[in-house]
Amino acid sequence: EPMQGPSGQEERILVSVRLRPLNEKEIARNDVSDWECINDNTIIYRNNLSVAERSMYPTAYTFDRVFSPDCITRKVYEEGAKEVALSVVSGINSSVFAYGQTSSGKTYTMSGITEYTMADIYDYIEKHKERNFTLKFSALEIYNESVRDLLSADSTPLRLLDDPERGTIVEKLTEETLRDWSHFKELLSICEAQRQIGETSLNETSSRSHQILRLTIESSAREFLGKDKSSSLTATVNFIDLAGSERASQALSAGARLKEGCHINRSLLTLGTVIRKLSKGRNGHIPFRDSKLTRILQSSLGGNARTAIICTLSPARIHVEQSRNTLLFASCAK
Ligand code: ADP
Ligand code: MG
Repeated sequence: EPMQGPSGQEERILVSVRLRPLNEKEIARNDVSDWECINDNTIIYRNNLSVAERSMYPTAYTFDRVFSPDCITRKVYEEGAKEVALSVVSGINSSVFAYGQTSSGKTYTMSGITEYTMADIYDYIEKHKERNFTLKFSALEIYNESVRDLLSADSTPLRLLDDPERGTIVEKLTEETLRDWSHFKELLSICEAQRQIGETSLNETSSRSHQILRLTIESSAREFLGKDKSSSLTATVNFIDLAGSERASQALSAGARLKEGCHINRSLLTLGTVIRKLSKGRNGHIPFRDSKLTRILQSSLGGNARTAIICTLSPARIHVEQSRNTLLFASCAK
């Protein structure tokens, strides 16, 4: 059900699932899809399950929103992310995540959502001439618990520092004040290039690294409105393109012996724990400090912040195990 406004007590996480179409390669090898989005909230697995399987796996899953393969990204944005992302203009921190196995559509979905949000923010600014806005943009990548600036050619790992007022900050992270839309697009292409460079040197990192694009908006009333706190606002929206979730589930399913040798994505596992705990209420100990990703995002996940998660699914039958894992993650988050 709809989330309450900023003052509401129960700020649930908005959880959606997007099923991508079968791609040409999958069609060429006669792959089929067993998943079907039967309405705006429900996705079902319609391959005949044996009795044993039926007791192990649900056949229907419900979420805030389910997007079928024919949905365009604009719709995914409008219904699965917009409300959360745009709360940043009212001074509320927010995070929008794409979660799913490699090739399920995380980057495709998140890059569209990032651009639509930016366009709406510029639109909002245009319509609110009574305020002054400053937009600051930064971008980072977390690979193997090491943080890298995506707006700088220097790939030295960045340290996290605890600032008594601002919480965890990434030391020396480039922060660019946006001049206009074309400056934003220019920075996006720098990030993309930096990410590619990392990928070639480290072998296929994009599936193992988390990318965070952050936009901080500062605004103040042009005219002094009295000592009202709301005359000046600062908030950050984060767009997070997560590492492929297959890493986390491989690590989870591997035995203790295997775990030592296998790369465990601590940030992804910790995120899962944090999200599960947040979805059960915001009280009690939440292990934000257990990973770089959750430390960096703490002020945009806990407290008053808003969160949306889009879980992306490959329809292919060969990916059914991963799809079930993704739906399990999504179910724990709602
Ligand atoms: P991931 O980031 O999860 O690894 P990508 O976003 O790179 O996956 O998507 C894999 C491929 O599938 C890309 O070529 C992308 O353009 C395509 N794709 C993903 N989602 C969709 C979609 N909803 N509609 C059409 N093509 C898609
Ligand atoms: Mg990707």
